[in-house]
Formats: sequence, C-alpha cells, structure tokens
Amino acid sequence: MRRRTDPEMLYPDDSRLYHPLSAVAAMSSTDWTKERCEALDASDPIRHVRERFVLAPDEIYLDGNSLGALPREVPTRLAEVIGHEWGVKLIRGWNSADWLSAPERVGDKIAEIIGARPGEVLACDSTTIVLAKVLGAALGLRPGRRVVLTTSSNFPTDLYAIAGVARLAGEIEVRRVEPAALLSSLDETVAVLCLTHVDYRTGEMLDLPALTAAAHAVGALAVWDLCHSAGAVVIGCEVNGVDLAIGCGYKFLNGGPGAPAYLYVRREHQKAAVNPLPGWQGHESPFGFELEYRPARGIRRFLTSTPQILGLSALEAALDCCADVSSEQIRAKSVQLSELFIGALEERLPHVFELASPRDPERRGSQVALRHREASAIVGALAERGVIGDFRPPDVCRLGFAPLYLRYVDALAAAEHLVAVMETGAFA
Ligand SMILES: *Cc1c(COP(=O)(O)O)cnc(C)c1O
Repeated sequence: MRRRTDPEMLYPDDSRLYHPLSAVAAMSSTDWTKERCEALDASDPIRHVRERFVLAPDEIYLDGNSLGALPREVPTRLAEVIGHEWGVKLIRGWNSADWLSAPERVGDKIAEIIGARPGEVLACDSTTIVLAKVLGAALGLRPGRRVVLTTSSNFPTDLYAIAGVARLAGEIEVRRVEPAALLSSLDETVAVLCLTHVDYRTGEMLDLPALTAAAHAVGALAVWDLCHSAGAVVIGCEVNGVDLAIGCGYKFLNGGPGAPAYLYVRREHQKAAVNPLPGWQGHESPFGFELEYRPARGIRRFLTSTPQILGLSALEAALDCCADVSSEQIRAKSVQLSELFIGALEERLPHVFELASPRDPERRGSQVALRHREASAIVGALAERGVIGDFRPPDVCRLGFAPLYLRYVDALAAAEHLVAVMETGAFA
C-alpha cells in the first residue's frame, strides 16, 4: 500500500463528482486524529441523515454494501401498509392505495439515483431475475449477433443468469474476459456487453461511460449491473447512453433483506424491447384477461407478476428517507471515508495487508478490500470489537462505507480497531 494520500487523487478535476472539502484535501494521513474527524463530521452536509437509521451505538457497521441498515421510517410505513391498507382496504388497496402503480412510482425514485428519466425504471422481481429479463430483451434487440461479452470476475449469479439466458436464446456464445481485455474483445459479433459496474469483491469500478461508448461503437448494447453502485457512486444512465441496467434494493438503497430489485430500459428501446418473461401485469390490459399477450406501453411491459407491495413499501420508505441527499454528496463522502480508512492503515499498518481495491478513488466504489491470509479470522476479531464487515473467500476482508450513516470518526475508529486486532494478534 502506498503510504501517503495524494490530495490530487482525492479531488480529480471533475468537480461535479467531488465536493471539495478542503479540510480533507489539505490533510496528510498523519492528521487523521479523532479531533479532525469530529470536525469533518460537524461540517458534513449530510450528517443529519444518520439519525434516520437504526444503528447500534456500540457498533460500526461496514456491511451496508451487502445489507443496508434499517431506516427508522420503514417499520412505521410497513405498519401503516399492513394495518391500514392490507388490513382495512383489502382488495380495494390495488386502486385506492396505489398498489398497482408501485413498481413505476418506486422505479421513478430509483431513476433519480441512477441518473435515468421518469418512466425508465421499474422496481420489481429480484436481482438475478431482472438481469435475465433485461439480457433476454437486449439479445432480442440485436438479432443476428451471437456473443455476450462479460468479465470472468463477474458476480457468480450474474454469470449463471447470463449462461442460462444464452442457452435459452440458442447459439449464443458467452465470452468471459479479464476487465483489462474488454475493449480489445469488443467486435461486431458482440450483441451485448453485460457488466457489473462495481466489483462485489474488490470494489473496482469499471469505466461505465467509456465501455458503454465502446460497445456502441461496434453496434452492441451495454447492460449494466448496478448492485454495488446505486446509492454509492454517480452513475448517469441517461448521459452515458446506458441501454439497459438492473440493480438490487437491499444494498446501498436500504430496502431490507430480499428487497425488490429494479430494471432500467432506456426510453428509446422500450418500444422494440420484448420482455422475455411476459406476465399478466405487463399486459396492456391486465384485467381484461385476454388470451393473447399484448405488451403494455412503456416500461410497464417489463413487469411480470403482481407487485410485491410489502417489499416495495419498505424500499420506498427507505428511498424517501434519503431523498434530500444527492448521489454527488454521497459519492463525495464515500471517497473521503474510504480514503481516510486506507490512509490511516497505510500510516499505521504498512505492509500488513495487500489492498485488493484500486488505490485511485476514481476507480473504486464504496468498499475497501484488504487481502490477508488470515482474512476470515481477522473479520471475526473485528466483529468481536463491534466492527461488522465481511469475509470473501479465499482471503479478502471486505469493508463497505455507507455514507448515509457512517461518520468520519467511524472510519477512523474502524481503522484503529483493525490496527489493534493486528498488533495484539487477536485474530490468531
Ligand atoms: C448483490 C448482488 C446480486 C444479488 O442477486 P440476488 O438475485 O438479489 O440474490 C447479484 N449481482 C451482483 C453483482 C450483486 O452485487
């Protein structure tokens, strides 16, 4: 690990993405004291958001990238939906409580987070299912092309879904390459470039604008999995020309365990795109019970089933509770938190871990992956001290930084706990 943090790296010239907090930029890592972190927390423009979450006072939760914390509003909203809508309105809730429109309504709220336009996102199904759906739709938009290009390090469920869809579509070759070989592997045989934006293990962030443009240059479509991106980094689906995308609701979006996922289909593709898993809820007239399928207009044609109202209500409450925070603010704080954590470790524990995440914050999502032979035991020892991260085999400690509810003092304290674990050999 490099020892010092270069302030230039902390604040690349794109000031739209990084809110200059000159206090951090001017600091060298030796300045990362509790007092300085407290001062940063005091001037943090989104510090008030932490109060909206249920957090154990004696824990530092570094797993919000896997399961987001519980927003206080969620139990309240769910109690209302269950008691007053389900319990009282019963079947009438589909219309009078707006249950029917929930996938689009919640989708529009996610659209703001991923930089999409209203009417381009639906909240529905689960992550793997929506990936299969949008990939099937994307292949249908590129008839005659036979290759899906992805990375060999993609999340396993993504690879399984891609292989499954390729089998169903027939005669589709799945080409898996290292991220560095993506550009040179794009050619005119590629129908779809199907990638995960932020690597679940290392936090490495692919260059979404450049790869999307490169796919378009050979006539391919770009499909992005935004599971570890939405709510953590700035995505810009519209400005970057993303064709289709998906993501999950329970990571940085805090929708709760198994929350509904979402899918994005760019407006320009919606008319021609075919839902490969058509269902009555995506029919133009679902309650006409017609025997032949006629796709609904717009994004709704990508619905399959009855909306999961309880899950959607929890997800919607979670999104609403942070609607006053921009992706740019989240990203700026995320970069600072992970830079602070890495910098403190470089200073206090040089040569102990290998940083599996990119050192350049521009190429890193909101998690830090540290490689160590004893990673599993180290994660266990951290948990005993109330620092909750996770272990990813074979040797990765994965620590996620959720800017909505983590403070600068938490990032520093987490680093100090890790130093103590290593120095006392508590993991052995
Ligand atoms: C979290 C995650 C998933 C989860 O898939 P589920 O169907 O929700 O279980 C899929 N892909 C990626 C890249 C993820 O990070």
